[in-house]
Amino acid sequence: MFLIAGITARVVTLDEPAQRCPACGLFQARRQRVDHWFSLFFIPLLRVKTGQPLLVCQRCQHPTAAPSTPSTAPAEVHARHCGGCGRRLAADHRFCPFCGRGAPE
Ligand SMILES: [Zn+2]
Ligand SMILES: [Zn+2]
Repeated sequence: MFLIAGITARVVTLDEPAQRCPACGLFQARRQRVDHWFSLFFIPLLRVKTGQPLLVCQRCQHPTAAPSTPSTAPAEVHARHCGGCGRRLAADHRFCPFCGRGAPE
């Protein structure tokens, strides 16, 4: 049977000034939101879910997390390696625990 009622996704571009895209550097990034609507006969009747706004570049389609969303990526730890044996050293190691060589500053 042909389904005439269901949930459809609609992409809404928010009416805000464009922001700079970090990927291509152009001011073409706009906030978009994917809302889900209950529709009947392809006509959206009721919005059942309001999506989270996402910054999407209109030019390169590069999605960028909205500025209000805190980044969950952990800070990159600068890895040091022993100049003698090449093994990875912890930041507080002054001497290599493997071969005893002084760690590079
Ligand atoms: Zn871009
Ligand atoms: Zn070493």
